[in-house]
Amino acid sequence: MGPQVHLKLTRIWAMEEGFSEREAELIAHADSGFDRRYPARASFVNITRHFAPTAWIWSLRYLGLAARWGDLMMLGYSLHCAQDGVAHGRIGTRHLVQATGLRPNPDVWEASPAGVKRRTEAVTRERLRRFRKLRAA
Ligand SMILES: [Zn+2]
Repeated sequence: MGPQVHLKLTRIWAMEEGFSEREAELIAHADSGFDRRYPARASFVNITRHFAPTAWIWSLRYLGLAARWGDLMMLGYSLHCAQDGVAHGRIGTRHLVQATGLRPNPDVWEASPAGVKRRTEAVTRERLRRFRKLRAA
C-alpha cells in the first residue's frame, strides 16, 4: 500500500480515534516510512513483514512493544504490517494475480476493492484502540 493509506488515512484515523495531531503525525510517519526501513526486496525476513500471514505476527509483536513502552513509532509499524496483511493477502498471491492483469495493483488504494478498504480501516482502528486500552490498563 502506498502513502494514501500508510500516511494520509492513518493520520486521519488516528486523530479520529483520539490521538493528538502530533501523535497522529508520528504514527503515520512511522507507518509510511516502514517500507524504506524494511524494504520487502531486501531480504526474506523483510518480506514476512509485508505479507500475510506472517505480517499479522509482526503487527502483534510491534503492538506489544508499542504498548509496553508507549512507543508511537512501534504503533505505526504495527499498523503498517496489519494494513499490508489485508491488502497483500497471502505471500505474494495478489501481486502475482495482478501481474496477469486480472486485478488492480494491490498497492494502489484508489483501485482497491471496497472490502479491502473496509478491512484495512477496521484493522487500523482496532489496533489504535487496543493500544490506548493497553496503555490505560
Ligand atoms: Zn509494506
